[in-house]
Amino acid sequence: MVDVDTSLAAPGSVNYRLARERAVMAYKSGEATLAEVCDAQSELMRNARECGRATGRRCPICGESDVVECTYVFGPRLPAAGRCIVTDADYRRIQRRKGQFTAYEVEVCPSCRWNHLLRSRPVLPLS
Ligand SMILES: [Zn+2]
Repeated sequence: MVDVDTSLAAPGSVNYRLARERAVMAYKSGEATLAEVCDAQSELMRNARECGRATGRRCPICGESDVVECTYVFGPRLPAAGRCIVTDADYRRIQRRKGQFTAYEVEVCPSCRWNHLLRSRPVLPLS
């Protein structure tokens, strides 16, 4: 299903804000269960704890914790599940590689396992 907001996005990037809001609304209206929206796998939870970036935004589902953001990069010669990018240096290393890479930013709640894709964007090579 493609239903994304590209109005404010940089070229090639996609914002998943509308899909995220719909997921939150589905939970709040009872259309989706907690288990359906809070289904972060253990590896995502571990990455969120160890290398998630603080956001200062409360979790929209449980309201108990602030969500963190994790960035995953997919592309040639990277793990099939993507590589979790922790530092700017990690990101620059990918930028220096040959090939097309895409970064996905995911919001994760360390308390209730809520997770949702926020945006994706191409990794621009360093010139
Ligand atoms: Zn939560």
